[in-house]
Amino acid sequence: MSGSHQKRILTGDRPTGPLHLGHYVGSLQNRVRLQHRYDTFIIVADVQTLSTNFDHPENLPADVRQVALDNLAVGLDPDSASIFVQSMVPQIAELTVYFSMFITVNRLKHNPTIKTEAGQYGFEDNMTYGFLGYPVSQAADILFCRADLVPVGEDQLPVVEVSRFTARRFNELYDTVFPEPEGLSGDTARLVGLDGQAKMSKSLGNCIYLSDTTEAVRTKVMSAVTDPARIHRDDPGHPEICTIFSYHCAFNGGESADIGERCRAGTIGCVACKKRMVQVIEELLEPIRMRRAEFQRPGMVDEILMAGTERARTEGGRTMDMVRMAMHIDYFEERDRQ
Ligand code: ATP
Ligand code: MG
Repeated sequence: MSGSHQKRILTGDRPTGPLHLGHYVGSLQNRVRLQHRYDTFIIVADVQTLSTNFDHPENLPADVRQVALDNLAVGLDPDSASIFVQSMVPQIAELTVYFSMFITVNRLKHNPTIKTEAGQYGFEDNMTYGFLGYPVSQAADILFCRADLVPVGEDQLPVVEVSRFTARRFNELYDTVFPEPEGLSGDTARLVGLDGQAKMSKSLGNCIYLSDTTEAVRTKVMSAVTDPARIHRDDPGHPEICTIFSYHCAFNGGESADIGERCRAGTIGCVACKKRMVQVIEELLEPIRMRRAEFQRPGMVDEILMAGTERARTEGGRTMDMVRMAMHIDYFEERDRQ
């Protein structure tokens, strides 16, 4: 359980759809592994979703619950980790405003993640204030609970850098309130998509979801594109360019070197290699499916989210007291009244 001496984790996801294997290796696995060693906060970042999806908020109620359920299904224990909704913690919005006073537009415009994602969403020439500023809002997500560690996929590390800078700058300008949070990526920092694209991503639709059925997993894996040089079963392959081989490396560590060699020698065909992959993914997903079923009792996810949000608000209140004092904006506190 939480204790004041315990270091803190803050991480989370945008509720833009169900979570997938990329989330699992990039961040979820680390959350589950570290949840008992760290006081853990998991944010369901609904406000950040609006930075790209402001014109269709109608999916949020279902997606917020879906993302919370995915986190519970992979093994986050609601007695250890507080899972909460970003928009319901007003201190995060407050902090965003204060941080935005000293974070420059140039720092945001030149951030590598902002540049890549702006390209992905077609925002290069016409970016909203909220999209450009999402790293500032994310700094507030991380710092509202004075977190020390942020388990994220590699794509998010440059955004965590903005949080580190924000903490440092705030502490220099006003007073030491925030730790400098560290980003932590999983062993597979970036999982490629089923289509071979650089990143498996909800918004690109190239995913195996944690909530996929056995049938869906089989269909997706068996139809994935592999090494085009392999037409016959015994053609020598190039595992380094094959999506399925990269999944063997991510999920089938013990066997992957052997599979790589056999692919190169042309002694394992793509169909056999894919069938083995289906088995490996099924072994991973089966316990996740069972835990999902346990948390699907009506109202259970909502109760967990409400309790986590309550705890986040309490912690946010403590941080804001420190922030106000450091910034000299605590005008009516007891100590100022004579
Ligand atoms: P969207 O496309 O809507 O932004 P996303 O798939 O990028 O969705 P996020 O909710 O933005 O997912 O990311 C949640 C966390 O999962 C982040 O820490 C991110 O770095 C990590 N993550 C997402 N996709 C991958 C991936 N393919 N490989 C490794 N980590 C990933
Ligand atoms: Mg993303």
